[in-house]
Amino acid sequence: MCENYIIAIDQGTTSSRAILFDKKGHIKNVAQMEFAQIFPKSGWVEHDPELIWESQSKVLNEILDGLNDNQSIAGIGITNQRETAVVWDKKTGKPIYNAIVWQDRRTAAYCRELIEQGLEEKIQEKTGLIIDSYFSATKVKWILDHVDGAREKATHGDLAFGTIDSYLIWKLTGGKVHITDVTNASRTMLYNIHTLTWDKELLELFDIPEAMLPEVKSCSEVYAHTSEEVIKRKIPIAGIAGDQQAALFGQLCTEPGMVKNTYGTGCFLLMNIGSKPILSKNKLLSTVAWKIGDRVDYALEGSVFIAGAVIQWLRDELKLIKNAQETHEIASSVDSTGGVVFIPAFAGLGAPYWNPEARGTLLGLSRGSSKAHIVRAALESIAYQNYDVIEAMQADSGEQIKELRVDGGAANNNFLMQFQADLLACSVIRPKVTETTAMGAAFLAGLAVGYWKDTDEIKTLWQEDVTFQGEPSDGLNENLASWHKAIKAVENWTKS
Ligand code: ADP
Repeated sequence: MCENYIIAIDQGTTSSRAILFDKKGHIKNVAQMEFAQIFPKSGWVEHDPELIWESQSKVLNEILDGLNDNQSIAGIGITNQRETAVVWDKKTGKPIYNAIVWQDRRTAAYCRELIEQGLEEKIQEKTGLIIDSYFSATKVKWILDHVDGAREKATHGDLAFGTIDSYLIWKLTGGKVHITDVTNASRTMLYNIHTLTWDKELLELFDIPEAMLPEVKSCSEVYAHTSEEVIKRKIPIAGIAGDQQAALFGQLCTEPGMVKNTYGTGCFLLMNIGSKPILSKNKLLSTVAWKIGDRVDYALEGSVFIAGAVIQWLRDELKLIKNAQETHEIASSVDSTGGVVFIPAFAGLGAPYWNPEARGTLLGLSRGSSKAHIVRAALESIAYQNYDVIEAMQADSGEQIKELRVDGGAANNNFLMQFQADLLACSVIRPKVTETTAMGAAFLAGLAVGYWKDTDEIKTLWQEDVTFQGEPSDGLNENLASWHKAIKAVENWTKS
């Protein structure tokens, strides 16, 4: 009997993965390989694009090697670390510089100049983004400014720029296809999310020749086939979405007002806002959620820089806990933090505060403050930060959220999930399959090749595992008030 599968390529910041899905949306096999992080200077983060490709093709071939002759692949969906920029030579296929990773801050001073020139409003209006070195535009400009002869070559159409999806597709097709999708394009700060075109005025501002840009496609269509010279089988490449958008789709947040949150090192929250982009008044990002057929959906996005990482800090630096799992029990052993408030602003504060100078703070300590109080305050801090992002989302969209769909490592903490539900006074739902990013990419590819008929069919594949029903209380309002008082204290500390 013939069996047919979909493969998701999940190219993340620290590892490359290939995941085999069956028709029920179940994971049948996973291959994963880490690759080197390069830190040439303080604040600089690079990847070697060729190592990314090597690791990605290796794991893809590993999955293909595990198949027998009766097992076929209907399509490949790609999801990737967003914003990371690669520039390569179209003739040789060689990158002219390492990939500059989303975390890289080398263009922060230039971004400040742009803000001082008063460009914030214009850039937000066109791209939905806040001016920041996080996005690709200033990274590409940096490469063109610093690699000898690069801008001239780019002007002649000899160089290609792409986010990681784009570079992988170039490689998978043996250098034949140079494309990206709307979600990745919307993170470059060069793409107009209203007209869905590269923005000529921004290209001029950043001095980036249009000839080097990829063609922008939808998230679900057959773009090309893998070349048998590079990958063992000829397979349609049929889905692309940046990691957070893929997770939003993988969580089936397909209706306006639906929100997903990924609880990893940081938290990434995205709210579906339907077919019209809303520009945030609360320092959130507006971004393309996906384009399927002719329909474009948009999302509001906010990220929390330190979430699960605060638990790692308690474990590795303070040595207060042995592992992340035990925090559930420790936090549950006390019925409050005893007045302790923990602001884990180790790397500044993200949305909706955007305060890069803020630093971590423990407030309200007394002689009776115990390990349990501090652990509980750390877990609560994750929930409070998310609460603030969701409040901003509700204010911008006018939608009251009813449920939050969660994934990521720290979403396994039942204390945290229940506390989050209580704080938001909504349900927090953890699905059975929490590999939502890869699942989203698989769904997008599967839809394009008819593996799954439509979104309604896919909806039947998403299954909840646990639902935490929120029970608001007056005590929580008091907690929130002291959290916000503590945020003010941190902001004052930053100013002084
Ligand atoms: P990433 O993809 O960002 O590396 P993961 O989704 O793998 O993150 O989640 C790992 C993070 O989640 C770590 O920061 C870890 O401290 C945290 N974490 C994992 N399990 C738990 C838990 N049970 N309770 C709280 N935090 C947890």
